[in-house]
Amino acid sequence: MSGISISSDGDTRYLHLWWRASRWTSGIDPYRAVFNTSAMIVSACASYGVVHALAPGGVVSAPSETSAAVLFAALATFWLVNTLAVGAAIVAAEKLRSVTGLVGGWSANALEVVTLFLGAIAAVVIQLRPWLALFLLPLIYVLHRSDSVKHLEIAASTDRKTGLLNMETWRCLAEAGLKKARRHRVPVAVVMLDLDFFKRINDTHGHLFGDDVLRAVAHVLGSEVRRTDLVGRFGGEEFVVFLADVDLVRATEIAERIRSAVAALEISPGAGGASSAVPVRITAGVACDDGYSDDDVDLSQLLLAADNRLFFAKGQGRDRINAGYARQAR
Ligand code: GH3
Ligand code: MG
Ligand code: MG
Repeated sequence: MSGISISSDGDTRYLHLWWRASRWTSGIDPYRAVFNTSAMIVSACASYGVVHALAPGGVVSAPSETSAAVLFAALATFWLVNTLAVGAAIVAAEKLRSVTGLVGGWSANALEVVTLFLGAIAAVVIQLRPWLALFLLPLIYVLHRSDSVKHLEIAASTDRKTGLLNMETWRCLAEAGLKKARRHRVPVAVVMLDLDFFKRINDTHGHLFGDDVLRAVAHVLGSEVRRTDLVGRFGGEEFVVFLADVDLVRATEIAERIRSAVAALEISPGAGGASSAVPVRITAGVACDDGYSDDDVDLSQLLLAADNRLFFAKGQGRDRINAGYARQAR
């Protein structure tokens, strides 16, 4: 989502934003670009309708309190229509059920709102003294730079294939989560998961289908844990989850829930999923620490314990969970 500049005559100036976004979205499907553009145009028309209805003579010629209120209403309309359109599309495509899924996160909306306010200021300035709008250019430039930095941050912290956290970021955030858990004396758990006989899936159906399976599993992982839990791609077909304030019983339940959800996946190779679904199974090791002992285990020990338990569960026949305390032997 991006903002536009709205003048009282409904003029929209967002080509620079299109250019900016296109650098990050050059690989996206054309239908998404068409949808985004349409959502923008509909939002701009809606906010123009609001301006026209509330101040038919134009925002600038209306009394100043009215101008501010009309501009505010126009911005709110733009934001609402655009957010609903994009949010509804995301929910329909990804079956998200959270408010954040619908309206986006705080930082995305903050940028959207700032861009809209800048657009409103530009619209007024252009009507009063067009040349003064030049002074807004540095502000727009800085705003766009900060947006680029945000994109870079996301790119540097996520695994490109699955969209999950990469290991460096996962470790960093999990260390912080572990420290916080220690301060509050709450239990933590690490879950290591590995796809069963994934090589066979690759060998039978090809690596591209294998990648689809990885993405589908990553999606299950993201949907089966809380937003505050940390899900990362350890490497290859191995994933790792950090759960804070979760005891051994709960962590085992969560791992079991993930295992069943993966087993219930119906992914078919071939165009449009023409062939029958390929069974996907996962094995997991869970290591928990109750946070009450004086000799607390560190993150590496938790990872190692979860990995050992995963290895053990693989040996027992796969498609199962092995869970226990990190300090405890299997
Ligand atoms: P096990 O049940 O013992 O874990 O068997 P496995 O076949 O899953 O394990 P193995 O270590 O033999 O094979 C893992 C395979 O995962 C081999 C490798 O080619 C594949 N793999 C690793 N990363 C990727 C990836 O990003 N995409 C695809 N398609 N395959 C990958
Ligand atoms: Mg493996
Ligand atoms: Mg495997």
